Amino acid sequence: MPSYVHRCPACGEFEQVRPMSDSAAAASCPDCGASSSRVFGAPGLRAVDPGLRRALDASAATADAPAVVRAVPGRSRRATPVTRDPRHARLPRP
Ligand SMILES: [Zn+2]
Repeated sequence: MPSYVHRCPACGEFEQVRPMSDSAAAASCPDCGASSSRVFGAPGLRAVDPGLRRALDASAATADAPAVVRAVPGRSRRATPVTRDPRHARLPRP
């Protein structure tokens, strides 16, 4: 369940864990019991792993400006292995 920050007029801010369906309802202060309104703050953007953030940014960038290939990729350095075993010639072909 998410946590929501509320502000009591007398005691100050406090955090309360409650279901999302009750997010809009006023909470009662744990100290004095007064009705406290919800405080909206910045989302926890720093909680995201930097590697995940880079991956998400790169993924979003490909949607806007995909990388353009201007030439056919060159040959790979390793040649395709060729077998000299005569039994391999009898194997079924796709
Ligand atoms: Zn209070």
